[in-house]
Amino acid sequence: MPAVETCPDCGDTGWKPAPRPDGSPAVAPCGCRDAARAPVRLEDIGVPPKEAERARFDYFFNVSKPLERANRIVFKWADSYPDVKSGLLLTGPAGVGKTHLAVSLLRHILLERGISVRARYEYVPRLLREVQRENDLLLIDERRLAEVTRAEIVVLDQIGADTGWGQRVQERFLYILNRCIQGRGFLIATTAFPLEAAQQSSLDDQITVRAVSLLHEACRVVPMPGEDYRTNIINPRLSV
Ligand SMILES: [Zn+2]
Repeated sequence: MPAVETCPDCGDTGWKPAPRPDGSPAVAPCGCRDAARAPVRLEDIGVPPKEAERARFDYFFNVSKPLERANRIVFKWADSYPDVKSGLLLTGPAGVGKTHLAVSLLRHILLERGISVRARYEYVPRLLREVQRENDLLLIDERRLAEVTRAEIVVLDQIGADTGWGQRVQERFLYILNRCIQGRGFLIATTAFPLEAAQQSSLDDQITVRAVSLLHEACRVVPMPGEDYRTNIINPRLSV
């Protein structure tokens, strides 16, 4: 086997120093990054084809000030990456555009900025089923999980969604979340469950207090309050 070459420009991090015009520190993708990887399609990193096609910041419905603000925050994150401090947790009811913004972020970095970042989109209820080894509820398919934990940007979409968040599933999720957070990647998470306990079921109830606290450590919360704009504004005659 040939000796492992180290890139002199970036020391194999894939990012080289590129100070801003005002002299403040920043990084840019190193040439070795693009040489190593072929361009990706969003579908190849797990994004559902329907979302891959239509999710972009320009198409987002800025129907309220808070949603306009959420759009700006997520766009700025995507436009500044990797100069970002933490991941993002988008919270709000179904239909406000959480998935849309999360996928727009991936599109902006991978396709519009053309940076070959190792990224992964996961719909959490499906991921939880797929990492479960057949016979044992607690055995994890590490090969499947590695696709997620090796990524530099991981989208965990719809945390808490779907039924059957019994104790076993909660433990499995906590394990996945821990592994994601221990990795070197950034986490972009979405949930329709309120973070504060109220009359209705909160995220604590779904995924445990420990998992919510891990999310808070890894992510900045971006509130997306509102109603379901898919049904009420974008297509009022569509019933779900
Ligand atoms: Zn390099």
